[in-house]
Amino acid sequence: FQIPDIQNEPMKTYAPGSPERHALQAAIDQMQQELPFEVPCIINGKPVKTGKLAKQPLPHDHANHLCTYHEADPATVASAIDGALAAKAGWESMPWADRAAIFLKAADLVSGKYRYKLMAATMLGQGKNPWQAEIDAAAELTDFLRFGVKYVSELYAQQPPRNSPGAWNRIEYRALEGFVFAVTPFNFTAIGGNLVGAPALVGNVVVWKPSPAATYSNYIVHQILTEAGIPPGVIQFVPGPPPEVCAQVLSHRSFAGLHFTGSTFIFKKLWKDIAANLDVYKGYPRIVGETGGKNFHIVHESAETKNAVLQTIRGAFEYSGQKCSALSRLYVSSSVWKNGFKDLLLEEVAKIRVGSQLDWSNFLGPVIGRPAYDKITGYIKKAKETGGEILIGGSGDDSKGYFVQPTVILSKDPKSVTLVEEIFGPVLTVFVFEDADFEKTLDLIDESTEYGLTGSIFASDRKALIKADNKLRNAAGNVYYNEKCTGAVVGQQPFGGARASGTNDKAGSISIFYRFISARSIKENF
Ligand code: GLU
Repeated sequence: FQIPDIQNEPMKTYAPGSPERHALQAAIDQMQQELPFEVPCIINGKPVKTGKLAKQPLPHDHANHLCTYHEADPATVASAIDGALAAKAGWESMPWADRAAIFLKAADLVSGKYRYKLMAATMLGQGKNPWQAEIDAAAELTDFLRFGVKYVSELYAQQPPRNSPGAWNRIEYRALEGFVFAVTPFNFTAIGGNLVGAPALVGNVVVWKPSPAATYSNYIVHQILTEAGIPPGVIQFVPGPPPEVCAQVLSHRSFAGLHFTGSTFIFKKLWKDIAANLDVYKGYPRIVGETGGKNFHIVHESAETKNAVLQTIRGAFEYSGQKCSALSRLYVSSSVWKNGFKDLLLEEVAKIRVGSQLDWSNFLGPVIGRPAYDKITGYIKKAKETGGEILIGGSGDDSKGYFVQPTVILSKDPKSVTLVEEIFGPVLTVFVFEDADFEKTLDLIDESTEYGLTGSIFASDRKALIKADNKLRNAAGNVYYNEKCTGAVVGQQPFGGARASGTNDKAGSISIFYRFISARSIKENF
């Protein structure tokens, strides 16, 4: 069968007075009246209340919480795995058209019936403003589901191009033998959906451990998938506690794949745990992860200043810098810096309104929680102590929520801590280079961090652009010319990086699906 033409979900504007603005506001109001919610584990389609309770606080108002959830205990995790394995045969053998229909329906539910509810949960729980929630929980999640169906159809259609006389060669794309473990992040509701959706699309059963800071929105995603027709047991929802759940799942004989987005530190830890259990498993597990970044913009002397400044502000400060792709180190040529870039940057950053994400006029909401707040403000302090000059911002207020001012630090030391280590907050460090040192600066960008996720080159001189691109070939898996380094779109810019940033299996493309299939090659003689 033919998949209908797939387009990216159109984004709504939420202009004052628009119907979508009313609808979203109504969903937020209702959620605020009804919270806190109670979230169970979901095992074999049924709620399981372990009684081991944990809270998902509101980042803008930490005295209150969005939900109380039941943490999975060892017995629940064990039944999640058993149930998933029991559901496997039925799910895997379901005709592709039926499986595809479930995901297409789920996409329609995300873009339609549940759009505002899921956005409200993402705004309240994960601190996104309405436009950031739209990009994520409405548009990107819908796109992941719809494009996933398209990519898997294309993948299944790939067959050996040659037969020998009297024979027929074919490939069967099986799911992995065992179950997939999805460990998903707080910062994108869509990524949660994709980390479980991608393996499930190709017939895998999945045990899903959501981030504690995204429990409620992820629970709604699970409900949507269930309403769309995912059979009981195929996706088991087992919120926290992360270390215990991970240790138990990774020591199971049928563990067959990890689909992860989160920190480099945790990914390496899980990888080592998998290595330590290798003799326990039936096979070699697939390990797929998208992790940290220390993403850069480089601004050449030929760059167009206004565009470079505005893209820099968006890249560094949207969603308080809590995207893996967020800009955090800016290398700018001294002539551009002196002739308007610095002034415009500081002028525009001064206009940024910080405060509750529920107030439509605020651009920058809270950071996700206490550890994030302490880490980010700790880095700002360290920068001050080690010779960094705070050009703007530099303070925070955690009295009610976890708010950090957008902060720009000027550093003369190219190896300073805020130019090298991932901060994951609204902190941008600037290094100004002499125009003649452009090439030296490219080497510096390439060599000074362990990461390789995203980066942007700003230049109107095409020769400079190409020179930078060639030098920085390994410094970023997603590269942009004259545009900010965030905001990859499913089906347009497949997303992921290498080095310490991940296995670069490119979410939002066909590549990811290859990691979760185990092909069987068949030759039949007639
Ligand atoms: N895909 C997102 C972007 O390009 C970032 C995803 C992430 O934070 O992991 O901005």
